[in-house]
Amino acid sequence: NADSAMYKAKERGRNNFQFFARWMDTQVSNRLEMLVSLRQALDKDEFKLFYQPKVSIADGSIIGAEALIRWQSPEQGMVAPDRFIPFAEEAGLIVPIGEWVLRTACAQNKAWQEAGLLQIPVAVNLSPRQLDQSLPDFVRKVLTESALSAQWLELEITENVVMKDAEKTVATLNALKQLGLKISVDDFGTGYSSLSYLRRFPVDALKIDKSFVRDIARDADSAAIVKAVISLAHILNLRVIAEGVEDHEQYNFLRQNGCDEVQGYYFGKPMSVADFTLRLQQEQSSEE
Ligand code: C2E
Ligand code: MG
Ligand code: MG
Ligand code: MG
Repeated sequence: NADSAMYKAKERGRNNFQFFARWMDTQVSNRLEMLVSLRQALDKDEFKLFYQPKVSIADGSIIGAEALIRWQSPEQGMVAPDRFIPFAEEAGLIVPIGEWVLRTACAQNKAWQEAGLLQIPVAVNLSPRQLDQSLPDFVRKVLTESALSAQWLELEITENVVMKDAEKTVATLNALKQLGLKISVDDFGTGYSSLSYLRRFPVDALKIDKSFVRDIARDADSAAIVKAVISLAHILNLRVIAEGVEDHEQYNFLRQNGCDEVQGYYFGKPMSVADFTLRLQQEQSSEE
């Protein structure tokens, strides 16, 4: 409809603008070069996954991890995903990059399990472009190849995925759920999902966007939204997790209002495999 067409046009305009704003001042000065360098980054194995703990609000234990991509560029150093994922999405490169992410995260989680470390689900972010009918088969293949049981994989989708082509999306999400993995809705509160959509989508958890968490203490509206999302999630029988928790005040608010899980710098930044492995080892020795 007209609304969604306008929304798409706006989004595209914004992405183009961001592309120029972000890349004008670097040596990568046109889209073709950007495309070539991202393609090479994939071939040369320059992407890395960092892992950030998800923590139980009840007892502070690690109950999951989120895999977050970085580009370790020889020329530019560590490049954050916000600087190349939007471009990769536009250029169609997000599909091969996303496949690499899924394979790497599943293999890494299996390696942690084989090392006898705490078993946790690892969450992978999905771009809307990846969510097509072929995804369930691909995910099944990756799980088989990595010998990871589906219960240890979680997929994070954004709210707006849910809006376009709802019928197809529901079918794809159902097929993914049938594999036995978990699905959560990322950046919840920033998009367009309606209550009726949420009810129809086979998801397990809502992740409250960090912009609301950031303003909990100084903005009554944000505090009210956070409370409302927690209630909504529980009414729909979903877990609720808050992202971007940076201090004790935010943590207390979330705990007092019944949030289930938290994630943020206060509990651990996204870290390298080596650092996350240490964190899992510490967690295990403190449990014993
Ligand atoms: P996201 O999935 O919502 O991830 C949360 C972002 O918040 C991450 O940024 C994380 O590092 C950051 N964060 C975590 N705790 C805190 C905190 O306490 N305070 C603040 N201010 N930030 C915090 P990052 O790693 O830069 O990733 C940004 C976005 O890029 C992600 O947002 C996700 O949408 C996208 N992304 C990351 N990795 C992938 C990937 O493998 N595939 C796809 N398609 N997108 C990815
Ligand atoms: Mg995420
Ligand atoms: Mg998020
Ligand atoms: Mg985000």
